[in-house]
Amino acid sequence: MSLWSVMARRVMGGRISKDTGSRPGEGELMRLSETALLGEPSLILEAIATLAPGELTELARVVLRERVGEAIGVLRDCAPCHDLLSGGGYDPIEMLLAFRERIGHRGAQMDIDESGGGGSQRGQGFETWIRFGPINFLTSLSLDGMTLRESQVQVILHELAHAAGDVIPPDGGNPPESVRNQQRITRACLPETYERISRQ
Ligand SMILES: [Zn+2]
Repeated sequence: MSLWSVMARRVMGGRISKDTGSRPGEGELMRLSETALLGEPSLILEAIATLAPGELTELARVVLRERVGEAIGVLRDCAPCHDLLSGGGYDPIEMLLAFRERIGHRGAQMDIDESGGGGSQRGQGFETWIRFGPINFLTSLSLDGMTLRESQVQVILHELAHAAGDVIPPDGGNPPESVRNQQRITRACLPETYERISRQ
């Protein structure tokens, strides 16, 4: 029995009926995505240990689509976040709705790609190019004091802020400024998270 099926079995409470070998099929990828969406890095790392690169990318795309949906919810519910992201003259909700549709398609504005690392971005508006590395996105984006899920939503909004008219300062190759931008986005868009990590 492969590791991923052991982990998925444990997480899914035995809903996986049989071991199908070392490579997951469509159904197994769906179950794995439920594991990935739980947002527990150590569990996810074990569960994805035997995935081929293409499968890893597909899994990360499932999680990315879900978190983009959550980021759209944040923009709809949180006025300070919407105000910040609209400051460059773009409609951030319209952008994310369009970007989500294109994930996994050629030339997608936002996608999963080895080259993306912890998040890379260039270009503006609907011409932007935002990429996240699959392992980074699935497991290791956790920012100080933030859960993986909060970090995933934050990093989507962060790269969107650069694409939507640079409503936060450019921070490429400038780690301290990047951290300040993370704080700007978290304070505006995830205020409860910001409160919590500020107290730590
Ligand atoms: Zn940045």
